[in-house]
Amino acid sequence: MSSRIAVIGAGLAGLRCAELLCDAGFDAHVYERENRVGGRMATDSIDGFLVDHGFHVMQTAYPTSKRTFDFTQLGAKAFEPGAIVVQQRSSKPKFWRLADPFRRPFQGVASGLNRFASPFDLLRVARLRFSAGKGAIETVYDGGNDSTSAYLSKRGFSSSMVDRFFHPLFSGIFLEDELKTNERMFRFVFRMMSKGDMVLPRNGIQAAPESVAQRIGYGRIHLSSKVEVRDDNTLLINGKEHSFAAVVHAYTTSPAENDRHVWTLHFDAQHSPLGSNHILLNGDVKLKKQLIAHVAVPSDIQPSYAPEGRSLVTVTVVGSNADSLGFSTRDDVLSQVQTELASWFGEQSSEWRCLAVQHIRHALPEPLDDLGDTPSLGTDRFECGDHMMHGSAEGALLSAEHTAQAVIQSLRQ
Ligand SMILES: Cc1cc2nc3c(=O)[nH]c(=O)nc-3n(C[C@H](O)[C@H](O)[C@H](O)COP(=O)(O)OP(=O)(O)OC[C@H]3O[C@@H](n4cnc5c(N)ncnc54)[C@H](O)[C@@H]3O)c2cc1C
Repeated sequence: MSSRIAVIGAGLAGLRCAELLCDAGFDAHVYERENRVGGRMATDSIDGFLVDHGFHVMQTAYPTSKRTFDFTQLGAKAFEPGAIVVQQRSSKPKFWRLADPFRRPFQGVASGLNRFASPFDLLRVARLRFSAGKGAIETVYDGGNDSTSAYLSKRGFSSSMVDRFFHPLFSGIFLEDELKTNERMFRFVFRMMSKGDMVLPRNGIQAAPESVAQRIGYGRIHLSSKVEVRDDNTLLINGKEHSFAAVVHAYTTSPAENDRHVWTLHFDAQHSPLGSNHILLNGDVKLKKQLIAHVAVPSDIQPSYAPEGRSLVTVTVVGSNADSLGFSTRDDVLSQVQTELASWFGEQSSEWRCLAVQHIRHALPEPLDDLGDTPSLGTDRFECGDHMMHGSAEGALLSAEHTAQAVIQSLRQ
């Protein structure tokens, strides 16, 4: 039998798995059906703008990302910790700047005094930060296994704090609008956000998986491959049969289970509507049944995202929220988003040119039911991807590491 290993799928998980197999001395090759690497981490170039598929950031605190990426080489730059929250007050928008008091102590004191949150909620945030941040990373998966929303109310947060802050932030991360996602996932993300930075690579999010592909070498990556599985060790690739010592399936076989979807709208603006490098959360999204969860200006962080003198404004609308409010077409979503933007930014936003309206289906999988610190390995074959743990680069990379280890062990037996 051939000593070659086939990895089907050149998303982040497949690439990382192949890299680890190559590092261990195996002859790994990646077969990808599309004509680019990166899977869901994709970037288009439109009229000189770098347009990522969805608002997509890297977290420098993810343990697996630290092992996988060279953030300096990627030219990564960070958003400011904290956020701006906008809400309509007597028909005028009010913008609250919320700094992270632990990482920006001076601005944090000012945020504490701006009356967005009650002193009790501020105290609860501090306690949450302390408890989610202490101990080994694995401990975030200990304890309760309830929904995020139940967890936040168990910790005593007021509904105002949940609806105006946690809801727009975490519905936009989990891509679901009930905060039904497992509290363990919430604790993990909250810990990562408080310990590290949210960054964008200089050349768009696709540059991250591309950096792994470059290390493997494009000679081992076969794009636009039509793969049919014959049996555990045999594949029909572009009509020709090949046998392998092992085959890794780095994709989900049930994409319908990745049912969390998102609308992302990208605009070409004369200048940035935000006065700082934060993301803007819509504090009214739940209370006033609005569409926009959050707005970011990637070109404020990475000027390479827009041509000289222009700004890229990126708007996130959680798919299930659009569904429940009855918005299902591109034109309807765009028109409502433009209305909400105009209510905050006035006339200037009516001049923004829409570059793209992306409806990204099957964006994220449901996290595993009994989420722990170890990804599932699959039962009857080698499989990896974020669907084996939780929908994030961390889930994809951790799964890749575990599966690569399982392949190595099985072939060395
Ligand atoms: C809009 C959006 C925003 C996100 N934001 C973040 C974020 O901010 N932070 C974060 O950590 N994560 C984020 N994620 C999640 C992150 O992108 C994913 O967790 C990660 O990219 C999953 O990688 P993967 O390799 O498991 O799967 P995929 O990227 O889906 O890769 C699977 C690959 O397999 C290929 N493939 C499938 N079937 C076949 C076949 N039969 N033959 C050959 N090839 C095949 C596919 O074409 C694809 O390239 C976001 C995802 C989306 C969609």
